[in-house]
Order: sequence, then structure tokens, then C-alpha cells
Amino acid sequence: METKKWIDQVIKQEEIDKYLVDGKDFIDEEAIKRQLASNKVSSKERIRAIIEKSLSIKRLDFDETAALLNVTDDTLWEEMYEAAAEVKRRVYDNRIVFFAPLYCGNLCVNSCTYCGFRKENCEEERKILTKEEIQRETDYILGQGHKRVIVVYGEHPKTDAHYIAESMKAVYATERKSKSGTTSRIRRINVNAAPMCTEDLRMLKEVGIGTYQVFQETYHKEKYKEVHPIGLKADYRWRLYALHRAMDAGIDDVAIGALFGLYDWKFEVMGLLAHTADLERQFGIGPHTISFPRLTPASGSELSTNSEYLVSDADFKKIVTVLRLSVPYTGLIITARENAEVRDDVVKVGCTQLDASTKIGIGAYDKAAHNEKEDKQQFTIGDNRTLDEVVYALAKMGKITSFCTAGYRCGRTGEKIMQLLETEMEGKFCKLNAVLTYREYLDDYASEKTKAIGEMLIKQELEEIHGQAFYKNHKLVQVVDDYYQRISKGERDLYI
Ligand code: SAM
Ligand code: SF4
Repeated sequence: METKKWIDQVIKQEEIDKYLVDGKDFIDEEAIKRQLASNKVSSKERIRAIIEKSLSIKRLDFDETAALLNVTDDTLWEEMYEAAAEVKRRVYDNRIVFFAPLYCGNLCVNSCTYCGFRKENCEEERKILTKEEIQRETDYILGQGHKRVIVVYGEHPKTDAHYIAESMKAVYATERKSKSGTTSRIRRINVNAAPMCTEDLRMLKEVGIGTYQVFQETYHKEKYKEVHPIGLKADYRWRLYALHRAMDAGIDDVAIGALFGLYDWKFEVMGLLAHTADLERQFGIGPHTISFPRLTPASGSELSTNSEYLVSDADFKKIVTVLRLSVPYTGLIITARENAEVRDDVVKVGCTQLDASTKIGIGAYDKAAHNEKEDKQQFTIGDNRTLDEVVYALAKMGKITSFCTAGYRCGRTGEKIMQLLETEMEGKFCKLNAVLTYREYLDDYASEKTKAIGEMLIKQELEEIHGQAFYKNHKLVQVVDDYYQRISKGERDLYI
């Protein structure tokens, strides 16, 4: 089918209009600019009061967030970094969740000026993976120790919702033996793909989608138009309401994001907050995670290296800190676009999810398994460390890696998980599942060096669990001890 016809068929205007209020969407640029301008200067007392509100795990409003974004005093920023780390500890404890991206296809009808996959880019070799190829990619990812992937696609009729559903089935069906002889499978598939209609999203729900992730890229309408001149993605509102449709399709873990470097970073943080607030208003729950990818060099894209809005490392840390304080109970993802030094620093101010062993070429994991040269990628990866290396680095910082996927499989999603997060209870369950899945990882995939440091960490975690009244009162100590013993003897996938 001709591209234009396909695009017209995909976009269903009524699935945009139903979410508008008086014909308007939730991005009020004038209001954002006003809020940023009227909160330019705040007293130290006001900033500290805002920090206190965040520490009580309450979402900040637009004026409060704008006030934090405008802070210029370094001492206050130091206080904010500390508070962000504390918020993270209270809601999520010391755990970091890992995932691996799996790029299934790079055919694309769009012309995003910052992306190596855009249709005009002749430097890019185009490919869509077959079922067998997807299973080989999954096999490599499992071999690293991952249990969670995010499948990623260009926007093209050949990688529509039906292809996505088939590729998810192929991933879930892949099995691999670990070095201890146990069988590993991917336990959660998140999806990053084109905005879809509600019916297509229902199909993905049926095949077991975890989180559906769509980045708005920029919330600024004029800039959006400039960087998405044609194609499916040129429709700002079709994209803006992709996650509303997902909620309506019963997918209650949704993920938002902005591509930092396209427009003013303070505006984008306010846009992410507006998106969060509208999901909360219309569905009672905000996004499961927020991502803040920074523009990195992409093949054939001048904008990716010379945009006037590129974000410095110092400002990047501020973005993550304000998001952590502003939306205390939402997961924050930092990807391997960032280098190891930046990631290790920013993790401290509140990220909850990382990728590792990352390859973003199509079929690139299988090539790595056979020591073949990789093709050009969609954009540049800054952190090429293996999962084992990152798990080790985090253990040295006292952070435990979690491969937990329990929340989604035992119904702790959407509104339920938000309540647990807001009341600081989710972190408690996660701690148990982190220990159990860390045990699996240490036995099945860790290097000797990582295993040695991991054993010390897991011992500390178990001691904490034994000492905390919450676990004793809820009779969880016996359960975790029992599961831990069974896992040590070779049982897998036990969760609480
Ligand atoms: N095609 C789908 C889309 O655009 O939403 C999903 C896949 S796209 C490969 C995933 C994300 O990569 C985009 O949402 C965008 O934020 C990010 N991306 C594209 N070009 C980038 C670049 N040069 N640097 C960093 N991230 C980039
Ligand atoms: Fe296609 Fe997504 Fe890249 Fe845009 S960002 S060109 S939609 S793959």
C-alpha cells in the first residue's frame, strides 16, 4: 500500500478528539512559558519547602516545578541532588532494574531530522528481522542474564501491530540454558513503537505487553513540526494521545519521554509534567516511567550534532533531579546513550532503570555472538559495558540489581502500583524480589568477580529484611527465606 494511504488509515481522528477539552490538548505553551517566567526567582525558604513536599512523596505542581528548574544557587542544587537520592531510596530502595533493547526493524516512513532511521537516509541498511532472527537476538540477550526487553521498531506498514505481536510471541517463546543448567526466558516485554489505535493496542495487551512506551520527542508544537516534517509522526496530537489510547486498551503501564536537545530543556520538563498530569486527570494514574534521552550523533543527521538546544552534562543532571523531585513515584530510565561516567553519576539522583550490553543495530546481538562487524546504528551508544560490568559497578555503589518482573504478572500495575509507590510499600516488595532475582543472576550468569561482591550485598539485604518490622508483621520473612533456599537449589521464577 502506498505510504500516504497507510498513514491516513492508521490515524483515527476520533481517537484524538475524544481526549481534547474544548478542542484543546493539554500542552498550553503560553501557560508553560508564564509559569517558567513567574517562578524565575524564589527564596531559599520556598525552594526548601518544595523539596520537603517532594520528600513526602507528593507530586509537585507546575509552579513548584518551574521554581526548581530556575534555581541558580549551587548550594540549593546540592540540597536538591541529596533530596532526589532520598526520594529514590524511600520509594524504590537501593535497587536498579535492568532491561535490554531489541531492535526488530528499521524501515520507517518518517523523516525525523535527528534519527538515522529516517526514510531519506541512504547510509542506513534496511532490515526487518524474521522470527528465527528475533529468537537468535533473544538468545544472546538471555545469555547476558536479562529477563526484560524492550522491543523497538521503525514506523512502517511492514512492522505494524500484527508484526509487533508476532515478534513478541517469538521473544516469549525463546528459551536458553544457563551455566547452572536452569532454563531462562524473557519474563517481560515492553514495547517502543509507533502510536497505534486502541484496537491494535488491545491485541498487544493480549500477547503480554508490559509497558507501552512512546516519546513525544518535543512538546513544543512549532519545533515538533520542524523536526517531523512529513509521515505518520507529523501528527503531533496522534502521538500526544498514544498513551491515553493505551490506557483505554487496558495497558495501564505506559511510558512517556522527551528527546532532550531538540528544544529548551526547561520547557520539555514542564511538558512531561503536563503529560503526567493529564494522564492522572483522565485515568487516575500517571506514567509508569519517564525517559529523558539526550540527542546523540546519528548517521546522516546534522541536527543531531549541531542543534542549538544540546544539553550539557551539568544540565542533564538537573533535568533528572527535577523530574525525580517533581514526580517522586514514577520510574526514571537512563539509557546507554549516555556514557558510563554520566550514568554512574545520574543514577545517584534517582534513576530506577538502566539498559546494559546494549546493541541497537538490527540483528546486532547475533553479530556480536559471532564476532561480526556491526552495521551503522540509529544513533550512538555511549556506554558499551556488558550487563555483568554494570551490575558489578552498581554493587560497588551498594546498589542491588533487580531482574524482577513480578509487579506486572501479579497485578501490581497501574493504579495499584501507584498507590503502593506513593505509600512507599512497593519498594518493600521489590526488595524481596530483587534479592530473589539477584540470587538467580549470581548463580546463572555472573562472573566470579561480580559473584564475590554480589554475595556480600545479598547477605546485607537479607539481614535488613530479617531486621525490619514490616516484613516480620506481614509474615514475609519465612516466605522469602523459603523461596531463597529453593532458588539456591535450582528452582526459578519464584516471586512475591
Ligand atoms: N520509531 C519509533 C518512534 O520514533 O517512536 C520508535 C523507535 S525510535 C527508534 C526510539 C527513540 O529513539 C525515539 O523516540 C527517539 O526519542 C530516539 N532517538 C531517535 N534519534 C535519536 C538520536 N539521534 N539520539 C538519541 N535518541 C534518538
Ligand atoms: Fe522512524 Fe522513530 Fe527514527 Fe523517527 S525516530 S525516523 S519514527 S525510527
